[in-house]
Amino acid sequence: MKYCTNCLLPSTKPDLFFNDEGVCNACTAFYNRASINWEEREKDFLEIVGKFKSENASNWDCIIPVSGGKDSTFQVVKILELGFNPLCVTATTCDLSKIGRKNLDNIRNLGVDHVEFSPNPVVRAKLNRIGLEQVGDISWPEHLGIFTIPIRAAIEYRVPLIIWGENSQNEYGGLAASQNNNVLDKRWLTEFGGLLGLRISDLTDSYGLTKRELIPYQYPSDKELEKIGVTGLFLGHYFKWDGLNNYILAQAHGFNSLGRVIEGSVVDYENLDNYQTGIHDYFKFLKFGYSRATDIASVLIRRGRISRTQGLEMVKMHDGKYPWHYLGKPLQEIIKPLGIDLEQFNKICDRFTNINIFKKDVDGSYLRDSNFNLVKINFDN
Ligand SMILES: [Zn+2]
Repeated sequence: MKYCTNCLLPSTKPDLFFNDEGVCNACTAFYNRASINWEEREKDFLEIVGKFKSENASNWDCIIPVSGGKDSTFQVVKILELGFNPLCVTATTCDLSKIGRKNLDNIRNLGVDHVEFSPNPVVRAKLNRIGLEQVGDISWPEHLGIFTIPIRAAIEYRVPLIIWGENSQNEYGGLAASQNNNVLDKRWLTEFGGLLGLRISDLTDSYGLTKRELIPYQYPSDKELEKIGVTGLFLGHYFKWDGLNNYILAQAHGFNSLGRVIEGSVVDYENLDNYQTGIHDYFKFLKFGYSRATDIASVLIRRGRISRTQGLEMVKMHDGKYPWHYLGKPLQEIIKPLGIDLEQFNKICDRFTNINIFKKDVDGSYLRDSNFNLVKINFDN
């Protein structure tokens, strides 16, 4: 396991590459932004969105997928500021938190029409369990639904333009080829959408779910997409994207932060909308030896807000802790709808724990500290 010499991302991160100086492609992509002519990009954006603007105000100008987070609040504020009339679409999270609900209400109160799509919770819980057991990702159905549901809405409401937030491949590192891609389409979703090789067709073939239970998770057909002319853009391609700035702007427009550091994180303003996020982040740590705290610290280091040494200290304090609770909700309650108990949960954890990253005890089980946290093998970071 090797670390970027500039930020804290490790070599275990999928699709992360290092140059000859040991600097990762997420850092390189960020520093390359200095040469971007943002005024030019804004012009491009206005031109594209202008083409989609509804004639005679007979329909919405675009769709903004919103989770209620700081970034979606920023997206809505920005689009309203530019004079467009968006239809906001939410694919409700798996286990929406109280603060997440408050922030969704806040988005509506910015002065927009809002559609909230709540998938069948019984099916969702089954999908959470399949995701957790099969690919080690409880959030698998959510990651699929946040893409498919707004696209289905675009067809349903006949609003062709979808304005997504940032291209996660850009800020967090990913295949170089995708980084200049400013369009989110089916190919992007399949390759980079975090679906981990589990396909929707697998669910009907191998896990006994019926096709009618999976409607929200189906990507529309090419024919349907073409009929409406569905186009997806990343706002982060056209405007300087900065999580902390987005947060400050969102807060000024009524967004609520937690007021204390979120479990597994180093800040209080990210990932506030789903109680299952702690489990999602923990499994990333089990597989790759790093998680949310590393991601956020790396973003802050790149922007010169903290030093690499300070970031490392923060990561050691917060990254990959056993998810006893998230946003204050106990783990046992979070996993209850999945029909599993703590013992079963821990067995699933063990199956996904990377043997090359974590220390084992003399009896062959994974070594844990007094708070049940795993212990990493020492790597030079
Ligand atoms: Zn880096």
